Amino acid sequence: SGEEVIGGNDERIFVSVRLRPLNEKEILRNDVPDWECINDKTIVYKNVGLSASDRSMYPTAYTFDRVFRSDCSTREVYEKGAKDVAISVLGGINSSVFAYGQTSSGKTYTMTGVTEYAIADMYEYINKHPEREFVFKFSAMEIYNESVRDLLSADSTPLRLLDDPERGTIVEKLTEEVLRDWNHVIQLLSVCEAQRQIGETSLNEMSSRSHQIIRLTIESSSREFVGRDNASTLVAAVNFVDLAGSERASQSLSAGARLKEGCHINRSLLTLGTVIRKLSKGRGGHIPYRDSKLTRILQTSLGGNARTAIICTMSPARSHVEQSRNTLLFASCAK
Ligand code: ADP
Ligand code: MG
Repeated sequence: SGEEVIGGNDERIFVSVRLRPLNEKEILRNDVPDWECINDKTIVYKNVGLSASDRSMYPTAYTFDRVFRSDCSTREVYEKGAKDVAISVLGGINSSVFAYGQTSSGKTYTMTGVTEYAIADMYEYINKHPEREFVFKFSAMEIYNESVRDLLSADSTPLRLLDDPERGTIVEKLTEEVLRDWNHVIQLLSVCEAQRQIGETSLNEMSSRSHQIIRLTIESSSREFVGRDNASTLVAAVNFVDLAGSERASQSLSAGARLKEGCHINRSLLTLGTVIRKLSKGRGGHIPYRDSKLTRILQTSLGGNARTAIICTMSPARSHVEQSRNTLLFASCAK
């Protein structure tokens, strides 16, 4: 009955938080899990030994569109935290799904699964809609030190951003592969993963500083009108973004410390935070998309009609409380 709704929930920015289990290192040093999801939307800090000043300074309960306990599967995180936003691209709406969090909190673990589930769902959808013709185009890039690199090319020459009056910012010479089938998707994802690791002395150092964007551009048109009526063609893109470690934004640093550590602060991450805060307030005004490479590249998938899902990943460990609070603060501001 009725029209099928693609991406039923029409929230512009959907914010969720995913707790991971304690890892081996944390367990070995007798770290304890201090955070708990008490229902689908609320996460609480349950350290009973909290000092009075700590209690008055920081909230102990935070509410979001959704929170995921440490035993939730990535499938569930995808279904409830990203699916609606990701597949709205099939209906011609630009979208972005982000993983935000400190290094080793589970961003890559989460985004890898989310990206695969989303593309698989898109294939399932097009198989059910033979009346439309779909073309999927896949591209992938990495931003490191405000320099953009093609993850589908062995050539690591930085790519330039160009301003196109109709299409907005485009990444010059970025490889775009027309997807043939599911095996092709898997093959391209593994190329990206391999490219991301090439030539780096320390993978962890690298991945903590770089942003990865996997972009799927989807064109569809009604078969009835193919070749006749351009108006029936929809084009939109969905971006899967595995962000640099949020410790690179270090909003909590004092001005002096920030100056000293200036070179460690990630401009794209800071600008993204500002852009998302302004968009979530929805009061219009100047949105500083042009202040960083990441926000320029994502501009058409952030503002306007675009839809955004942010999955904030965090460790439950007591030793990470400061970074976890920063992550929750970012998540709160995005709402
Ligand atoms: P990040 O990309 O944020 O630096 P990773 O995704 O690489 O972090 O995760 C760090 C480690 O923790 C990896 O070994 C990963 O497999 C593991 N991990 C992350 N999240 C989970 C989870 N929800 N369940 C189980 N293991 C996880
Ligand atoms: Mg990672």
